[in-house]
Amino acid sequence: MDNYYKSFNISDEVFCYCEKIIESLKDRFDEIDRTAEINQLKVIEAMQKNNVSEACMLGTTGYGYNDIGRDTLEKVYADIFHTDDALVRAQITCGTHALALALMSNLRPGDELLSPVGKPYDTLEEVIGIRESKGSLKEYGVIYKQVDLLPDYSFDYENIKKAITDKTKVVTIQRSKGYQTRPSFSVSQIGELISFIKSVKSDVICMVDNCYGEFTEKLEPSDVGADMIVGSLIKNPGGGLAPLGGYICGRKECVENAAYRLTSPGLGKEVGASLGILRDFYQGLFLSPTVVASALKGAVFAANVYEKLGFSVIPDSKEERHDIIQAVTFNDREKMIAFCEGIQAASPVDSFVKPEPWAMPGYDCDVIMAAGAFVSGSSIELSADGPVKEPYSVYFQGGLTFPHVKLGIIKSLQAIYEKKLVEIPES
Ligand SMILES: *Cc1c(COP(=O)(O)O)cnc(C)c1O
Repeated sequence: MDNYYKSFNISDEVFCYCEKIIESLKDRFDEIDRTAEINQLKVIEAMQKNNVSEACMLGTTGYGYNDIGRDTLEKVYADIFHTDDALVRAQITCGTHALALALMSNLRPGDELLSPVGKPYDTLEEVIGIRESKGSLKEYGVIYKQVDLLPDYSFDYENIKKAITDKTKVVTIQRSKGYQTRPSFSVSQIGELISFIKSVKSDVICMVDNCYGEFTEKLEPSDVGADMIVGSLIKNPGGGLAPLGGYICGRKECVENAAYRLTSPGLGKEVGASLGILRDFYQGLFLSPTVVASALKGAVFAANVYEKLGFSVIPDSKEERHDIIQAVTFNDREKMIAFCEGIQAASPVDSFVKPEPWAMPGYDCDVIMAAGAFVSGSSIELSADGPVKEPYSVYFQGGLTFPHVKLGIIKSLQAIYEKKLVEIPES
């Protein structure tokens, strides 16, 4: 085996250290496989129940009336997530668009939107109008309220209760931490929060930003009371094959509102040609549970590799996982850059490219990004990025197969080791 790694210029020290860690993770990996197994069965069951057929793989053009593949796929999503209905479309351009659509279609002027879990994902700031932006919810007279988490990252029930008024229409809950330092929420924590909110006001719409969370657990937020769950197809549920798209699954009325907003009042779900995209949506969804498992194993492996070398990792090496994101804090610019170079060098695409810190719109410092993906910007594929400033944290996620994530992490450590920035303990 190590001969194969030698051809990737991996030294014996790095290889042995990493192999030892893999051996110690057998039980963790078994647990991840069990979750994948359950989710795989859920997907197959939903596909069989809805008679997914060869005809479903073909697409429509023009208006897209009577698109059997598109309509069946939406039934499959609804069954997997146990919701009344679903909107799964190539016309939803990305996760932010899906979230904006869900919010804008279900809120009306004068309504209040509440985030009981602190600041939402960066790109939602402009959707909501936390940062001034054209066409924001704020411009349309939707009021935004936010309750931050308590210092121990638990929910501030007292202030959440106070923030709910008779105008509160939608509550938005972000499952994954995104680029924040708080932990990601488990489905059961989200369930508790939703129960509390519904006990205060039963008719409020609870929406969960499900990005990066799909299939990491045996249950989804829609199994514990969420009225709508929303995500991107170039993350978990696209399985690496979907080349674009987003989804909204939820209560009939919520999904109907979203469909009328995505296309047009009166037209709703009836239009929207699928062109030739459906096979990738179906096949990606079919692969997603095991792809997510690979990404999760990779994240656990990385946490163990870097924690034992003395770096701070979130989640830590032992924690349960609720999304596929792993943060490693280097407290050092050179180590951070070397890590990203290693990830890039392990990629199947663009492996010859060297990532460099660069100014990006919306950031107050340079950002470094490593990705060699088949689908541009896809973060279910192995990718790493982070702002190049103190504390020099890298967020990394994805990996379509475990051997690829394993190579990526080994290469990242090799890059740091070669620059003499780390000592590898004897194994
Ligand atoms: C990625 C992500 C989004 C936005 O999705 P894009 O496809 O990048 O627009 C929103 N929320 C969370 C938690 C995410 O991880």
